[in-house]
Amino acid sequence: MIAADESALRRAIVETALDIERLGINQGTSGNVSARYREGFLITPSGVPARELDERQIVWLPLDVADDADILRVERPSSEWRIHRDILRARGEIHAVVHTHSIAATALAIHGRDIPALHYMVAAAGGKSIRCAPYAVFGSQALSDHALAALDARRACLLAHHGVIALGVDLARAVWLAHEVEVLAKQYLLALQIGAPPLLSDEQMDEVLEKFKSYGKRNTGDR
Ligand code: 13P
Ligand code: ZN
Repeated sequence: MIAADESALRRAIVETALDIERLGINQGTSGNVSARYREGFLITPSGVPARELDERQIVWLPLDVADDADILRVERPSSEWRIHRDILRARGEIHAVVHTHSIAATALAIHGRDIPALHYMVAAAGGKSIRCAPYAVFGSQALSDHALAALDARRACLLAHHGVIALGVDLARAVWLAHEVEVLAKQYLLALQIGAPPLLSDEQMDEVLEKFKSYGKRNTGDR
C-alpha cells in the first residue's frame, strides 16, 4: 500500500514532468525530476517520456543509496540519481530538483558560459551569476560533483554540453526557476547579438539580493 501523501507526491512529480514539457523547457526522455520524501526521495524513472509516465513508475531511493548495484527494481531510477541524491543530502532547505535540457540555456552551456549579472533576475538563483559546471558524462559521480560545486550558494546551474539544474523548496518553485533560467539565457543570447552586454555591478546585485529576501512575502505585521 502506498501512503496517501506518497501517492500525492508521485502524482505531483508526474505533473511536473508534464509541466516542463508544456513550458517548452524539456522534451522526450531528457531531464528528470525528484522530490524529498521521508529519509529519501522520489525520482522519475530512466528513459520514460513524460507522456508515458505513471505514478507507480516513480522510484523511491534512500538518501544513502550508494551504487547502481543497490537498485534492483523493475523501474530503473533516472540515470542522474546521484545528482538528486547529493543535492538533497547536502542542502537541507531544498525539497525538489528539476533537470532539463532547455534549448537556450543549453546553448550557453555548450560554450561553457556562466550567465552573468545581465538582468536583476539572475539573483533569483541566489547569487550574482548562474555558474556553468564543467562537462562530465551523464549519470556519473563526476557530473554530480561538478554540479554540487556550481550550486554552492545557488539554486540553479548550467551543465556544460548538457543542460540545467534548478532547485526549490517545492516542485513548483524548482520548475519556476528552471523556466526563469531559460528566459535569462534567451535574453543573454539576444543581448549578445548587438555586442557584449553591459552588466549590473556587484553593488547593484547586492541591492537586489537584499530586496529578494522580502520580495513576495506578505506583510503580516508580526515580524
Ligand atoms: P534519465 O532518463 O535517465 O533521467 O536521463 C535523462 C537525462 O537527462 C540524463 O542527463
Ligand atoms: Zn540530462
